[in-house]
Amino acid sequence: MTLLLHRDLRRPPARALSASGVRIRTSAGREVIDASGGAAVSCLGHAHPAVIEAIRRQAETLAYAHSGFFTTEPAERLAEALVGDVPGGLTRALFVSGGSEAMEAAVKLARQYFLEVGEPQRRRFVARRQSYHGNTLGALALSGNLPRREPYAPLLGTAFSHVSPAFAYRYRAATESDADYVERLRAELVAEFERLGGDTVAAFVAETVGGATSGAVTAPPGYFRMVREVCDRYGALLILDEVMCGLGRTGTRHAWMAEGVAPDLQIVAKGLGGGYQPIGALLVGAGIVDAIEAGSGTLMHGHTYMAHPIACAAALAVQRVIVEQELVGEVQRLGRRLEARLHQRLGQHAHVGDIRGRGLLMAVELVADRETEAPFAPQAGVAASIKAAALDRGLACYPGNGTIDGISGDHVLLAPPFVSSAADIDLIVERLADAIDAVCARAKGQPCG
Ligand code: PMP
Repeated sequence: MTLLLHRDLRRPPARALSASGVRIRTSAGREVIDASGGAAVSCLGHAHPAVIEAIRRQAETLAYAHSGFFTTEPAERLAEALVGDVPGGLTRALFVSGGSEAMEAAVKLARQYFLEVGEPQRRRFVARRQSYHGNTLGALALSGNLPRREPYAPLLGTAFSHVSPAFAYRYRAATESDADYVERLRAELVAEFERLGGDTVAAFVAETVGGATSGAVTAPPGYFRMVREVCDRYGALLILDEVMCGLGRTGTRHAWMAEGVAPDLQIVAKGLGGGYQPIGALLVGAGIVDAIEAGSGTLMHGHTYMAHPIACAAALAVQRVIVEQELVGEVQRLGRRLEARLHQRLGQHAHVGDIRGRGLLMAVELVADRETEAPFAPQAGVAASIKAAALDRGLACYPGNGTIDGISGDHVLLAPPFVSSAADIDLIVERLADAIDAVCARAKGQPCG
């Protein structure tokens, strides 16, 4: 009997009792490898002593002070750690409680910026289908995740529109080169700006590496440079959502560093606090800060728990460990091992269509037919079944189903902690492959979607 309102009302999940390193123990006595860090959250694994100590010390010193009255040392230091060396021109940080709140703040700040600079007509946002930017109504309005959007569609407003994702496995024609594909996406983006009226668009929004909806989808080379050019041509801002893929997860400090562009606004969350505290951040470019400072001088946004001192202290400790132990390099090394093992074990699997990702954000896409790339029928629930079968084998991995244009792309996302051992990585692949074998053998007879 539980009084908690679980997502799955019929089958509440197992109760997690304790965790350390990359393993979580349940009340049923089971030990589970946390192979997706929740949803790419637990970058340092569990029970890291430096983070625990930072939380304890901050709780004793100053647990809470409203950010409208006071600033605090952990918040100041965390801002320095994130934007102190001005990566790509981002110069200020605003701390909130998670990814959705960070996206709400990004949209509102973009809107405020254009009000301050005398372009009040810029109130439209262009995002991509098959994307996820959060579950609050504003962030969901940006998201191109059909199952999550549909029940609320009338509430989501008309300021948000969507163009195609950059997803070569599903949408690049067999005859098309990467460069041709990027040009086709450019034409579509330009056409959307023109349709809306180029001077009405406030921002284009994208995940630098697609996460929860599409599953570790990296853009073809040149895609983000194209996006940056289109935004600059029309005077719109570029907002990059690195809630899942940022802060080392994909092998560079920010995922956009691998793309050769920088955003005007960026959001981060999951790996910021590593799960030790709920925290997200909006990183803001100098031009936007300067315009607001010269204009109203006031940020038109706020929350009670903004820049919460304990959350900031925890995140500061997490980010310091990542730097001191050079864990971003470790992500690259472990990421190469994970990718190689996935290819060895699943590369020829009859129901694996694609193995993709970057660093320690990898996904395996399941298909009914490897040759035609036909997906399983959505009602087969293949990704959800793999999640369950993996849990039975002591592995927690994150399932996804990116329904779009009638295509149901089942995938499983892996995002192991940066502190995983090589043996952990091998075990993750073995258990996942066993779960995939078992589920695909059962799902084989199902019709394709
Ligand atoms: N953006 C992206 C890319 C995400 O992956 C998520 C969470 N899965 C969010 C935003 C929303 O973050 P939160 O769940 O912390 O509100």
